[in-house]
Amino acid sequence: VAQAALAADTAPGATADGQAVALLANIGTPADAERVGAVAEGIGLFRTEVLFLERQAAPTVEEQAEAYAAVLRAADGRKVVVRTLDAGADKPLAFATQPDEENPALGVRGYRLVRSHPELLDTQLAALARAQDATGATPWVMAPMIATPEEARDFAARARAAGVVTAGVMVEVPAAALRAGDILAEVDFVSLGTNDLAQYAMATDRLRGELADLLDAWQPAVLDLVAATARAGAATGKPVGVCGESAADPVMALVLVGLGVTSLSMAPGALPAARYAVRRHTSARCGQIAAAALDARTAREARAAATALVDPEV
Ligand code: PEP
Ligand code: MG
Repeated sequence: VAQAALAADTAPGATADGQAVALLANIGTPADAERVGAVAEGIGLFRTEVLFLERQAAPTVEEQAEAYAAVLRAADGRKVVVRTLDAGADKPLAFATQPDEENPALGVRGYRLVRSHPELLDTQLAALARAQDATGATPWVMAPMIATPEEARDFAARARAAGVVTAGVMVEVPAAALRAGDILAEVDFVSLGTNDLAQYAMATDRLRGELADLLDAWQPAVLDLVAATARAGAATGKPVGVCGESAADPVMALVLVGLGVTSLSMAPGALPAARYAVRRHTSARCGQIAAAALDARTAREARAAATALVDPEV
């Protein structure tokens, strides 16, 4: 299929039988939001840490409000999911994270920073509320690296107190995936971060290229965690998205839809192929593709079993 024709197609994501699958973009800056254009139905992951990196102090509430408002304006009424600061581990911050942690990926990263620096989160939520008031948009907000229902409850309470009503969390720690029902009881939605979910499920540093075979969302154990989370979403009727890089693989996108994921967020360049793949399969076929992948015992077999059921045009 011609790339140009694919890229020009901006219809909302849906399976061949019309089940909606929102196709969203991952961004890191307001400039990214400007560039996304009509290819995405909205922003599924705004990684706000980009505003904080390589600085000696956190951006002020005014500065943050301006950046968030710029993204909301660029989205022009479409959905925007803002993720609160995910610092630590592979994203250190001079003014917040500890440089000497022995195991930074297992340390004070993501939402856990609220323990030592609650003002960072509260300033961020206040800025998002200001951006909301300034633009009339209603962004969703989510916290990274949530492991327990208490953390989810605390985050949602802080977000709602600040005036941002739709609050969710990322599911990227296996504990959260295994108990996704308890997490979803506290929040309005969840979004699976398959990069970290694979890292933590497989005990494999996401930055170690030579371990890429282990760090693979096709690993059946990782698929099981995604499936458990999607089942909890279906049971509660709350949205379960995916915003990890795995969504950008069109065959994996079909597996995720078949598992019950309701939105896929990815680098904007990957959206046309995902849209095409989703449209060429019914929701029942996606279910069969997902079942075949879950049945496999290895990542390689999972991918092969899924691919065998996918339209060869994809
Ligand atoms: C993820 O972990 O899959 C994710 C989307 O978050 P990040 O890559 O920013 O950690
Ligand atoms: Mg992550």
